[in-house]
Amino acid sequence: MTYRHLLTERASDGHVVTVMLNRPEQMNAMNTAMGEDLLACFEALSRDREVRAVVFTGAGDRAFCAGGDLKERNEMTDEAWRAQHVIFEQASLRVLRCPVPVIAAVEGYALAGGCELALLSDFIIAGESAVFGVPETTLGIFPGIGGTQLLPRILGAPLAKELIFTGRRMKVDEAKAAGLVNRLRLGDGSGDRDHPRHRGLQRDGRHAGSSRGRTGVQREAQAAIPGQVNQRTEIMAVIPLTLTDEQRALRDGVNDICKRYPGEYWRELDAKREYPEAFVAELTKAGYLGCLVPEEYGGAGLPIRDGALILETIHAVGGNAAAVHAQMYIMGTVLRHGNEEQKRAYLPKIASGELRLQAFGVTEPNSGSDTTQLQTTAVRNGDRYVVNGQKMFISRVLQSDLMLLLARTTPADKVKRRTDGLSVFLTRSSSTPWRFRPRASSARRARGSRTSSPA
Ligand SMILES: Cc1cc2nc3c(=O)[nH]c(=O)nc-3n(C[C@H](O)[C@H](O)[C@H](O)COP(=O)(O)OP(=O)(O)OC[C@H]3O[C@@H](n4cnc5c(N)ncnc54)[C@H](O)[C@@H]3O)c2cc1C
Repeated sequence: MTYRHLLTERASDGHVVTVMLNRPEQMNAMNTAMGEDLLACFEALSRDREVRAVVFTGAGDRAFCAGGDLKERNEMTDEAWRAQHVIFEQASLRVLRCPVPVIAAVEGYALAGGCELALLSDFIIAGESAVFGVPETTLGIFPGIGGTQLLPRILGAPLAKELIFTGRRMKVDEAKAAGLVNRLRLGDGSGDRDHPRHRGLQRDGRHAGSSRGRTGVQREAQAAIPGQVNQRTEIMAVIPLTLTDEQRALRDGVNDICKRYPGEYWRELDAKREYPEAFVAELTKAGYLGCLVPEEYGGAGLPIRDGALILETIHAVGGNAAAVHAQMYIMGTVLRHGNEEQKRAYLPKIASGELRLQAFGVTEPNSGSDTTQLQTTAVRNGDRYVVNGQKMFISRVLQSDLMLLLARTTPADKVKRRTDGLSVFLTRSSSTPWRFRPRASSARRARGSRTSSPA
């Protein structure tokens, strides 16, 4: 496929494709046509069975990419700009979710959207002239294709905030020291034939990749993009395609159950202040609440994002996932901190729903967000622990067999770090000497998910 502002080249072994932003006179600034090219190119790469790595670079020596083409943007109506932004967002997602590694080879400016394109790649290899930054904030423009999310993850919040709030540019040495750049490429490199930007892309601007479907964990749904990519209304229609086939099936399955529990069901529960037993039982039976438990312990072994999709779907159709979400994730404590015997004993039963572990006692009257300040103690007495303290706001405890209890086992003044000396106990909520009292305050009431305090 031929692109207007991209050049692509496939290495002779067929496995490495170089994608070059090609507007060197404009420092490879991204205009609408380039955004459309990127979207189409990375869409094709995601379905290309031969490619194993992508080198992402810019033509010329001055810039990898200087960001959005402000000249073009200044001529745009707000409506046209918004449509352009959808294209940029979709193109960026394709780079971010490219199923094979993307290596940004950066010389010169990688600024604003150009910096973000580099950040969307998996690795950055930069020459001495490379400069990174998001200076568009000084013009009142928000970094709109992932910079505000990716910079803090890569650099940490303080430095990311400094760059975003001030628009300061970062030279390559600082970027390397800060962990933004994986490797430096020393020397000016202009005569380096091995450099991806000098592989004679100009000889053949066509992408030679196959367009067959790719299988694998990050596979996109196989539905074709309808129409031409430069028709903006069509591009907006591809947004849901970021779900894989498996995720669509998951969402449809949850949807089918939710349809049997319409608004009246939830309103009636609200009025009676009852727990959605029938809904929870059906979700449990279908395996959705054990979805995060690894397969070896009887669950579906799905990733967190699939768990989130299940919860999102419940809310999207008017249900309340707060009644069930904790059964999905509290088991993570057992998985992470339990010994093998405990995992074998509890996880399969939690996965099947035979045991409900959906309550945790963390909050206390004198400690909320800062759990290191909690005052409940657990002191060993032979083969038992004696627990003393107060807990409050324990959601779903009346509908749970087990409760996770957080208590201090080493006094705070005897530990080095405040996070040390805390232990979690898996207790049978029905066999504790506590009696739980539902809280009356409506501010603490989440529909169908009652919050209680020990009476
Ligand atoms: C519906 C519901 C269900 C709940 N279920 C459970 C449960 O099952 N188990 C359980 O243990 N707890 C539960 N909680 C309690 C919840 O976890 C606590 O409310 C939470 O930990 C906050 O504690 P707090 O309300 O005492 O507020 P505080 O921690 O006292 O905070 C008060 C205010 O100060 C702010 N604040 C706190 N620290 C900082 C900081 N460092 N910097 C800036 N601002 C800060 C907070 O944002 C908040 O606005 C539930 C709460 C609700 C509302």
